Amino acid sequence: MARGNQVWYNGKILPVENAKISLFSHALHYGTGAFEGIRAYKQKSGGGAIFRLREHLVRLTESVKIMGFAFPYTVDQMIEGCIAVCKANNFEECYLRPIAFIGDGPLGVHPGANPTLDLAILTWEWGSYLGDKGIDEGTKLVVSSYLRPHVNSSLTKGKITGQYLTGVVAKREAIAAGFDEALMLDPDGFMTEGTGENLFMVKDGVVKTTSLTSILNGITRQTVMEYFKRKGIEVIETRFTRDELYTADEAFLTGTAAEITPIKSVDNRLIGNGKPGPLSLKLKQDYAALVRGELPEYGKGWLTPIK
Ligand code: PMP
Repeated sequence: MARGNQVWYNGKILPVENAKISLFSHALHYGTGAFEGIRAYKQKSGGGAIFRLREHLVRLTESVKIMGFAFPYTVDQMIEGCIAVCKANNFEECYLRPIAFIGDGPLGVHPGANPTLDLAILTWEWGSYLGDKGIDEGTKLVVSSYLRPHVNSSLTKGKITGQYLTGVVAKREAIAAGFDEALMLDPDGFMTEGTGENLFMVKDGVVKTTSLTSILNGITRQTVMEYFKRKGIEVIETRFTRDELYTADEAFLTGTAAEITPIKSVDNRLIGNGKPGPLSLKLKQDYAALVRGELPEYGKGWLTPIK
């Protein structure tokens, strides 16, 4: 994992070792940060491009709004920042991590009247999030003992740093038990999502994904829904249970980092015959082509050139 050694920090490009944050940063103590995960891909036509950059930065702005803070940057300023940091590191293909956080200020839970909102954009090279084997052969999931928090006790539409602790403990529990990733239920016992991915299942030709109750509104999820719509395949957004998932013909996870990762098993029950199904495989291939500018019929403006 090569890290970009130049970062964008509060409007300037600088070497990562010169980008300092204060130990008095509110976000370090209380998780008051919002972030994004974005990927840039080498394009068939040459050069690199960032996939659905504007949508990610709109979500970042909304996450900050959900937390209740003012955001001093426009989406267009952040678009320029993301392009600049890729160029500064000579990256045509990489992962980008913008992170906005409440910086140095009063250290009570109340961040004070005038919190500093710092914004950094980091980059690194990142392969398959759930491993090459996971993306090729399917990933092994377990339903976690930790729940995706209820909508009344978390801000589920925000990608907010402090909220990831549940995901961290669920993921560690899953890995320690020999699985690749955890799936979380909601407090009513319905499936929600992985710790960093949305969930789809296919049964008798019907595609379902968990409804936007307590899940993050994933941009890959939106891309996949538009993909199926163009193909004339209906996607039903609904609640479903773990046993419904056990008996799916196919299932897959979607996410910027995980891209399209087929699911091999859930709680040791094979999904279908335990091999990626035809719909998942075709989607995986088409997604890989789409993000590299090979399927221009999808999404006008989805690829922002790094230039
Ligand atoms: N759910 C959670 C909890 C996530 O962290 C992510 C990754 N951002 C996703 C779903 C997938 O979202 P996206 O497709 O926008 O990356």
